[in-house]
Amino acid sequence: MSSHKDFKKYASQFTDWIGAYLSDVEKFPVRSMVKNGDIKKQIHHNPPAGPEQIDDIFEDFKKIIFPGVTHWQSPKFFAYFPSNSSDPSLLAEFLTAALGIQGMKWITSPAATELEEVVTEWMRQMTGIPEAFSGVIQDTASVSTLCAIIAAREKATGFRSNSKGLENNILRVYCSEEAHSSVEKAVRIAGLGSGNLVKIPVDELGRLLPEKLTEAVENDLKKGYKPACIVAALGTTGLCAIDPVKSMGQLAKKHDIWFHIDAAFAGTALIIPEFRNTIGGLEFADSIVLNPHKWMFTNFDCSLLFVKDKNHLQKTFSLVPEYLNTNDQGANDYSNWGIQLGRRFRSLKLWFVIRNFGVKGIQDRIRKHIDLAAFFADEISKHSDFELIVPRTLSLVCFRWKGNKEMPLTMLNSFNAELLEKINSTGRIYLSHTVFRDKYTLRFVCAQTNTEKKHVLEALDVIFDCAGKLKPREC
Ligand code: PLP
Repeated sequence: MSSHKDFKKYASQFTDWIGAYLSDVEKFPVRSMVKNGDIKKQIHHNPPAGPEQIDDIFEDFKKIIFPGVTHWQSPKFFAYFPSNSSDPSLLAEFLTAALGIQGMKWITSPAATELEEVVTEWMRQMTGIPEAFSGVIQDTASVSTLCAIIAAREKATGFRSNSKGLENNILRVYCSEEAHSSVEKAVRIAGLGSGNLVKIPVDELGRLLPEKLTEAVENDLKKGYKPACIVAALGTTGLCAIDPVKSMGQLAKKHDIWFHIDAAFAGTALIIPEFRNTIGGLEFADSIVLNPHKWMFTNFDCSLLFVKDKNHLQKTFSLVPEYLNTNDQGANDYSNWGIQLGRRFRSLKLWFVIRNFGVKGIQDRIRKHIDLAAFFADEISKHSDFELIVPRTLSLVCFRWKGNKEMPLTMLNSFNAELLEKINSTGRIYLSHTVFRDKYTLRFVCAQTNTEKKHVLEALDVIFDCAGKLKPREC
């Protein structure tokens, strides 16, 4: 591209395309319909020797790349947990890309650091996280949890493992059997070993059993292990189960164990007081993660890690070589709060979202999602062929086709897996699954930014229609 005149021409074309895409997004098959390798085979294996025109590249984007896109911004995306966007977030991302800054230190763009301090404090106030906490924006919950577990490791070893490494490891970490795999990954990367992650059984709703946790911690203490970290899930991925945060926190406090809360998805619901008031024990946490990039209308990636003692986190991660030594009058350098040195300007999109929605706007949207999920759950319960696996939590409904009493579990599970594939192959909606207590479970997450009742009605229509077509004659 030769000049900024061309830039303006293309920017305006791209904006038109984006505007049309966002208006039409629900018309595209939600899950991409391509087969493995379809995209790659259309792209040259060698890079171009000379420059190519933006027009040509854009044409290829539309022809080759676009069919391989799954439309996470479709209001009929009900799979996994969402990765939401919204207009203010997207507009801020334009600016972030244009500025192209790298905010590793305060001096490398003071606005990035100072805005991050402000928006994390706004989010703390909005979610009712106690005043002692301060926040940092990481890329993902996986990395936030990894930071928490490394900080826990340093606490448990008196900051020796950073310098000496882990010798004769006796550290243990505890989470529920339903905790997200990022906990186990963090335990591995932190050098503690998966074998030292103790997975505690859950109750019939998927919540960690606190008496089993107490037993595990006390047994480990007797055997000479050192419990380093307890992780509570405030909303598991499978069922959105809420662990007994308060009693877990009290146990952690009693034994001076780091207490981390993984609220990656459901943490956003802390913004509505009627949910926040049902959750006790945040004050016991040493760290809490929640992802605005899931349910708070902020483009991926944006994960908030709150810590009670920021000095502890900084002591764990700070490493300042001479070439980064600057005289900034004691300014905060967020690169000392985590793993990456280079940092994106993520606070800008969060600032745009919070200001443009307003706290009330965010609360209203979250309540609407919860109401729509409640409506969906009612319709599923009323249908004679379906059942809920557990009662709905927030905006997640877990359900299955229930078959008849004689049907063996394996057959029922295969039917539900087949049903899921049939539903998703229609391209009209997108759901995902989990397995809980050996039951293949369909998950309907009603949390996409623009989902309305008509989309939920369409989902019910697709699900019932597909089940009717697949159903064995004898049922
Ligand atoms: N924790 C929970 C409860 C999750 O559901 C997820 C992802 O869905 C994660 C952590 C990991 O999130 P991320 O993709 O931000 O690493």
